[in-house]
Amino acid sequence: MSDLEYSILADFYEKIERTTSRIAMTEYLVALFKETPTDVIDKVIYLTQGKLRPDYEGIELGVAEKLAMRALAQAVGVSVKKVEDVYKKSGDLGTAAQLLMQQRRPVSIVDFFGGEVEAKPLTVTRVYETLLKIAKASGPGAMDTKVSLLVSLLKDAKPKEARYLLRTITGKLRLGIADMTILDALAIAFTGSKNARDVIERAYNMHPDLGHIAKVLATEGLEGVKKIQITVGIPILPMLAERLSDPREILSKLGGKCIVEYKYDGERVQAHKKENQVYLFSRRLENITSHYPDVVEMIRNNIKAKEAIVEGEIVAVDPDTGEMLPFQELMHRRRKYGIEEAMEKYPASLYLFDVLYVDGKSLINEPLPTRKEYLKKILLPSDRIQPAKSTIAETPEEIETFFEQAIADGCEGVMCKSLQGDSIYQMGARGWLWIKFKRDYRYEMTDTVDLVVVGAFYGRGRRAGTYGALLMAAYSPEEDVFKTVCKVGSGFTDEDLEKLPEMLKPYEIPHKHPRVQSKMEADVWFVPAIVLEIIGAEITLSPLHTCGWGKIKKNAGLAIRFPRFTGRYRDDKSPEQATTEKEIIEMYHSQRKVTARA
Ligand code: ATP
Repeated sequence: MSDLEYSILADFYEKIERTTSRIAMTEYLVALFKETPTDVIDKVIYLTQGKLRPDYEGIELGVAEKLAMRALAQAVGVSVKKVEDVYKKSGDLGTAAQLLMQQRRPVSIVDFFGGEVEAKPLTVTRVYETLLKIAKASGPGAMDTKVSLLVSLLKDAKPKEARYLLRTITGKLRLGIADMTILDALAIAFTGSKNARDVIERAYNMHPDLGHIAKVLATEGLEGVKKIQITVGIPILPMLAERLSDPREILSKLGGKCIVEYKYDGERVQAHKKENQVYLFSRRLENITSHYPDVVEMIRNNIKAKEAIVEGEIVAVDPDTGEMLPFQELMHRRRKYGIEEAMEKYPASLYLFDVLYVDGKSLINEPLPTRKEYLKKILLPSDRIQPAKSTIAETPEEIETFFEQAIADGCEGVMCKSLQGDSIYQMGARGWLWIKFKRDYRYEMTDTVDLVVVGAFYGRGRRAGTYGALLMAAYSPEEDVFKTVCKVGSGFTDEDLEKLPEMLKPYEIPHKHPRVQSKMEADVWFVPAIVLEIIGAEITLSPLHTCGWGKIKKNAGLAIRFPRFTGRYRDDKSPEQATTEKEIIEMYHSQRKVTARA
């Protein structure tokens, strides 16, 4: 097997560090690729990117600085204290290593016959294989193994090589070479021009492993690259959306008609299913399978295909009511231990919006309506896994109404997507086939309100057999009616949950009370009597609630977003003393405007 000396890579890194021009950077890369034997082209690319394998394989290179310093001290034959001092002065462990190695006595190794031999030059293969062993070392004694492996490399390293080895091993190589620059350089080095760049990029979008692409290109040429296909288990670069803030403009961009979907506030996931095996990849293509064992189960059981790649958003839900929670609640899943417990406390739902592959057939070039048909065919929906909520819109008003409903339901806004014949899945590209419509600001509700219970919804999970959420209304003295403004399921203690059915039982009636105006169908209706104190995140427009209907906007009322019971029963208030519709409208107008999450 032919190899490349690591010193050539180190010289290349030095040149890259000194250049400020992207063109020069590409030229250096081209020269390096031309010099690199085919056998090690993949390793050279991974090392240059400061990694060992593509990100989605999750092989972490980062060795703690302390450990690296220990190895350096041992290799140079100085104290750890000395290494620390030099590091402090130079501010970078790589530079410190280079300085220390320069001061080291030249190593002479005496061979079997008593003659002096040079240290063995480091090769790319040796560096790569050793770093891989370091990354994979685990269990008791792993730290010592890592140190001795690193010492063995450093002992044979020249000062400049040590500089880059130390940076690589501590995860700080950071040459700033983008994947796109590498693709350019590969095209030039192996095909002579940038003309083939599109073909190579297409393969990369489907199989984002630059080492693999380079290897295929170097061994089989462009014809080999053209044969690269979607592989279940390897993430595809996700399609991204453009953004507009005017529904009129959105419609005209999308040809006068589009599908409008809830834009869920969660974590994007690309789920791959291969028989019983399921892999989950994040927006940035990290493997996040271990964070969501529940989602893995849903994909395994509710996707009726042997092999499939589907896309959707994972959203945190309230375990008792099934209602959506803000994005932050999902952060509890980003941990190594205690996932089972986090899963119970912070369950997640999956809303699917696309399908890219089913049983041997790539759907990438199919228009969205066809992909949606496939999704419908393979998805067995349940409470926890469903298609993204959507509607078809042909007027700006239809988009706006759906948008308001999405916001009131806890979403960030809506996604408007083209339904035209060319509405393919654009891997890795941000384009106008998908347009996001979200708010640049939101409001903040600072005061509590006192609302009347007018209906209830049955609970699920722990709340099966009791109420999951209550339908709450404000009072309109002018009309003497109660108008709904939210459905509240949060903030209730176990004690509240026991007490509420008892309290409400005497007021239960078989139909909506004549003084109640509601667009929602509750499971149980009550005579307006009980008043509870409620706080929420903000007051928003909503097509589902009757409070303030038509007062701020045609065909919209007001809703409290993320409402929560404060724990205060307002027994001191009669329903007619509850917060009025007029007060809610005033609160809507006087809310504090805050910037929304970008
Ligand atoms: P982008 O992902 O466009 O670079 P970003 O990371 O800031 O930008 P957003 O502006 O929130 O993300 O918009 C895109 C994201 O919205 C998607 O990556 C996906 O996670 C999420 N999303 C939620 N619902 C949908 C949906 N129905 N269709 C597509 N994406 C959705």
